[in-house]
Amino acid sequence: MSTQPAQIRAVETILVDVPTIRSHRLSVATMRAQTCWCASYGSDGIVGLGEGTTIGRLAYGEGSSESIKVNIDTYFAPLIACMDATRSGVVMAKLRENLQGNRFAQCALETALFDVQAQRMNVPLSELFGGRVTDAVEVAWTLASGDTGRDIDEAEQMLAMKRHRIFKLKIGARAVEDDVKHVAAIAQALDSGGEVRVDVNQAWSETEAIAAASRLADAGVTLIEQPVVAANRVGLKRFTSLARVPIMADEALRGPTDAFVLARDHAADVFLR
Ligand SMILES: [Mg+2]
Repeated sequence: MSTQPAQIRAVETILVDVPTIRSHRLSVATMRAQTCWCASYGSDGIVGLGEGTTIGRLAYGEGSSESIKVNIDTYFAPLIACMDATRSGVVMAKLRENLQGNRFAQCALETALFDVQAQRMNVPLSELFGGRVTDAVEVAWTLASGDTGRDIDEAEQMLAMKRHRIFKLKIGARAVEDDVKHVAAIAQALDSGGEVRVDVNQAWSETEAIAAASRLADAGVTLIEQPVVAANRVGLKRFTSLARVPIMADEALRGPTDAFVLARDHAADVFLR
C-alpha cells in the first residue's frame, strides 16, 4: 500500500460516444449515445477514471458533454495541476472556491481522483467511504423505446434472465392519455412480476400531473419522477401532497441546498442523484 504524495500530472477528458442498445426516448429528446469520460493522471503513474455525462444534449439540462470537456480542459485542469492527488478534498475545495456550478464536471473529476486513491491504496473504492454496507444493489432498468409491445418484450426478457425486476418508464413525449395507456398496458402485462415506475422529465403541467397520477396509481405504478418543470417547486409540493404514490425529485434537485428545501417543504418523497 502506497500513501506517498503524488502530484496531479495531467487531466484528460475524452468524448466517447457509447451507443445505447436502442433509441432512448425521453420527453425532451431521443438519445442514441452517452458521452464523456475524464481521466486523472498521477505522477506515480496511476490513472483514475471518472464519468461526466448529461442526457439529451442541451434539450435536458444546461450542460452538455462538450461543455463538460471544454470546462475541465480550460479551467479545472490548470487550476489543480501539480496539486497532491492523494488529497481529493483539498483539490475539490480549490475548485469550489474558484469555479461556479459545473456539477457534472466536478463529479467526473472527483470520481477520477477517488479512483486514483483507491488504486493507490489497493482497496475497492467503497473502502475509502467506510466499507460497503451491502454486497448487492438492485438496479432499475429503463424502458424507453416508446413502443408498448417492444417495452413489454424487453421487460419480460429482463425478468426471464432475473436481471431486473424494477422498470422505469420514460414518458411525457406523447399526450397524457396515450402515456397513461402505455404505462397501464405494461404494468398489466408484467402483473406482479415486476415493479413499474415512471419518469416524466418535467413534461406535465400540474393539472395534467394530478389527473394522470390517480390513474397511474390505479395501474399499479409505484413511483412518479419529476412530473412538472423543476422551477415549479410549489406545484411539486402540492402534487406530492395529493399523490397516492411516492414522488421523486430529479431535475429539481441540483445539490444539497435544493435537497434541504425540498425536504423541509415536503415537495418530494424521494430524491434521485
Ligand atoms: Mg429522471
